[in-house]
Amino acid sequence: MTHRRPLCARQHGDQIDRPALDGHYVCESCRDHVERCLAELPPLHRELESALIPTTPEGPRTSGGGEISLPIALHVAAVRYDIEDYARQLAAWIADQRGHTPPDDITVAACCAWLARHVAWITARDNAAEVVDALDALRARGLHALKPSGRRRFDLPDDRGACPAGDCDGRLTVTLNGPRSALACDLDETHRYPVDQWLDLGRDVHRQAA
Ligand SMILES: [Zn+2]
Ligand SMILES: [Zn+2]
Repeated sequence: MTHRRPLCARQHGDQIDRPALDGHYVCESCRDHVERCLAELPPLHRELESALIPTTPEGPRTSGGGEISLPIALHVAAVRYDIEDYARQLAAWIADQRGHTPPDDITVAACCAWLARHVAWITARDNAAEVVDALDALRARGLHALKPSGRRRFDLPDDRGACPAGDCDGRLTVTLNGPRSALACDLDETHRYPVDQWLDLGRDVHRQAA
């Protein structure tokens, strides 16, 4: 019946082999990582915008050779572009393969929200490991590009940042901190949503907005 590999097709950072999810090409932690990347890339992409303008200029270069310091951080612009490009291409590919309508809004937030509904389909493709690697690399590059500012905490866009707890007017803030990454409400510290709840949360927020 099935010729799928029993082990996750992806090389893990810790070199440990993990069983693939039944009927899928990657393991549970790689599937979770796809969900995490799709949740984190939109706020990361947005936050990178503020890192586009270098805040600590190195001063005039005197080394000659016509080197001019640019007014924007090219590596930040590049990673932002790559996040946009990949999210769109992945969505376009899945829409084409599945005969679905692609997201009509091509912002990173809209593409990632759309992609989040296709995670199980992605992990069941034979190129699933490549997709996880690509998303992981974009997230890592984005975080790295942000590092100079030391900021790992940022607000969500207006249409997504409302705390979903009933009767709460708080705003959600993302804190990226590996497995302890969380969304937290700025009014009530008991309103805290770890990464593994982000997808459900997205659905709730969607439902409330609808
Ligand atoms: Zn895996
Ligand atoms: Zn709240």
